[in-house]
Amino acid sequence: MIDWLGKKKTTDNEEGESRPAAPERLLLVEDDVSFANSLRQLLAGAGYVSDLAHTGAAGLEVLADGRHGLLIVDLSLPDMSGHDLIRAVRERELDVAVIVVSGDREIDAAILALRLGALDFVRKPAEPAILLHAVARALAQRRLEREHDRFQTRIAHSERLHRFLVDRSPDIIFILNRSGRISYINERLRDLLGFDEKAVLTRHFSQLVHEHDRERARYAFSARKLTETARHNSIELRLLSQTDATGFRHFEIDLAAVGLPEEESATTSRDDYFYGVARDISARREVEELAAFQANHDAMTGLPNRNLFRDHLGLALIQARRNGERLAVLFLNLDRFKNVNDLFGHARADELLRQVGERIQRCLRGGDTLARFVGDEFLLLNTAIQSEQEVLAIVQRINRELAVPFKVTGRNVHLSVSAGIALFPEHGDDADALIRHANIALYHGRLSGSHGHTFFMPEMGATKDQRLHLQSDLQHALERDEFELYYQPQVGLADGRIKGVEALIRWNHPSRGLLPPGEFLPIAEEADLIGDLGEWVTRQACATLKRWNSLGIAPPRVAINISPQHLDEPDFVDRFIALLTEHQVSPRQIEIELTENLFIRDPNAVAQKLETLAAHGIAIAIDDFGTQYSSLSYLQRFPIHTLKIDKSFVWEIDREYRQHAIVKAIISIAHGLGLNLIAEGVETDEQLRFLANHGCDEIQGYIVSKPLPASALEAWMNGEREKRGAALA
Ligand code: C2E
Ligand code: CA
Ligand code: CA
Repeated sequence: MIDWLGKKKTTDNEEGESRPAAPERLLLVEDDVSFANSLRQLLAGAGYVSDLAHTGAAGLEVLADGRHGLLIVDLSLPDMSGHDLIRAVRERELDVAVIVVSGDREIDAAILALRLGALDFVRKPAEPAILLHAVARALAQRRLEREHDRFQTRIAHSERLHRFLVDRSPDIIFILNRSGRISYINERLRDLLGFDEKAVLTRHFSQLVHEHDRERARYAFSARKLTETARHNSIELRLLSQTDATGFRHFEIDLAAVGLPEEESATTSRDDYFYGVARDISARREVEELAAFQANHDAMTGLPNRNLFRDHLGLALIQARRNGERLAVLFLNLDRFKNVNDLFGHARADELLRQVGERIQRCLRGGDTLARFVGDEFLLLNTAIQSEQEVLAIVQRINRELAVPFKVTGRNVHLSVSAGIALFPEHGDDADALIRHANIALYHGRLSGSHGHTFFMPEMGATKDQRLHLQSDLQHALERDEFELYYQPQVGLADGRIKGVEALIRWNHPSRGLLPPGEFLPIAEEADLIGDLGEWVTRQACATLKRWNSLGIAPPRVAINISPQHLDEPDFVDRFIALLTEHQVSPRQIEIELTENLFIRDPNAVAQKLETLAAHGIAIAIDDFGTQYSSLSYLQRFPIHTLKIDKSFVWEIDREYRQHAIVKAIISIAHGLGLNLIAEGVETDEQLRFLANHGCDEIQGYIVSKPLPASALEAWMNGEREKRGAALA
């Protein structure tokens, strides 16, 4: 309870209103202990709470915390006189009433005490009734004084408030005379519009109004209008501003014909006619404009949103039809952006998306519209296109622009986009169909593992429902043993011998037949099943390898694809090694294939895992090399054995001459770093010849063999052996 009193002082606040008064405590400063005790007993009996101090100094100390409403003081104290104590109380402006209780019979002492501000003087030994009466009176008196003070404060405050309301009012307050000249205007004019209020006095009000609004203002301010229709009028006007870049601000002006109170006549003259209040509504206007903008724009990137995109597309379609033009809708998706989110968190990822939006915008032409669809997906409209090549050129330009690494917390992040493309008129003839088809094309491109771009094809129409079905089927597929592992040989170009096989998963879907991984791995990833799937593959590959070992037909190594999500699992390495041990397979027979995007994750965590795997003798290959992460520094930082040059580069060999340079560059990088190089997806003799001529180590592709079930691969290997045997004979 004491604590509560201690914290809450019953002082008046600015408005002159008091908080609930605390019960008033009394302080007795008295060195005569027995008198003090009997006095306190008396007071307690009357319901007063009192404290006791024996010296003046102690009394002052107690009073300092402001909890006491009344001081009862003895005139003779050991350390000072009672008068001195009262003086000290006044000097310190302590808000406490004082009565004196004293054995001193001198009238002078009493008078002095009363002069010093004591309210009463009671002689010892005091009559209880007299004493209690004096206490009650003093407390009442003090309450009255406080009431008075409070009232005074309130009046002063109210006056100040009025002055404040006019001068510091958030609004401009003004008075005009009959001819529309300013006869009074408050200080707010200066703050809001930058004009000196004295300089505008006697000027015509229209000099403050934006020229486009002057006509309306004149009408609204006309005496006739105000007196005839209503005595009150409200209008929105732009007033000129010297402080705003736009040169004006928006105001809502309330105008009344004068009926100023008589008392005000000191500041107003007979000629005063209008009284006006101009409220600055610029902020509201901005909010309204912002709301209109927001309805059509993405808050984060400031780009148009899909609504506005659809509008633009609708208009572009009308024009395209009229002029017989073609246009393209591109659905752009940032490759593996999820990793960035996981690694750097949403705020940084958002910032990155904003920068991506800016960069993409640099690649656009006049009539193009870029919009943010959702997440890391953007929509792009290219109007008046001549050919597919033109659209592809834009995608390439965007990817070139994005190829310059982004900096996130001091780290380089490499981004690229994939595009799904729908063309008008071939792929749809209204906005929704084109957007939907571009989206489907993108989705298909991702499933088939193609990087870059995919044009819509009518047979792509797979629906969301089918995906959901697949997801639930996938959950049972492991239990029902519906997966199958295929193996594709990798052969040395120098000697034509088998160097390894890559394990590739297939799904024997009960109703849809054999599905390639592109159709279900992305779904498995979403359903968080990728780790289970990876373990199944590893287990299966190890079992097969064990069998091959026992038959003496094992290829030097089996390559297993590991998804980044799977590698991310904290116990990945331990579990992986345990599986090998369980199947009595040597880690030296195993290679794992990882994609480059792994390295935009936490490089230290990845490094540690790869080091451990390598230390066990497991080889590490970089899959799809060259498609995602263009920094090569990781090749030296991590224990990597093999580069797998992506099939898209291989396929360019017979098409575009320029690409040869990339393949050659990759070959020389691999050799320079002492890495084994495998070219994937080799299909033609021309590709094979080129790769052999330029010193590529191994190839994998249909020209050698398609991926095969284990038993079929065994037969293939036997065939190869026989061929070689025949060649030797
Ligand atoms: P990848 O690792 O790049 O695998 C090579 C893909 O190229 C395989 O497709 C293979 O069938 C195909 N291929 C090989 N030679 C040729 C060729 O000469 N021409 C053409 N057109 N294609 C060729 P697949 O089996 O459909 O696998 C697709 C992707 O799915 C793989 O790409 C890999 O990223 C992933 N994948 C496959 N199996 C697994 C697995 O067990 N675990 C994980 N995590 N991913 C897997
Ligand atoms: Ca692979
Ligand atoms: Ca690959």
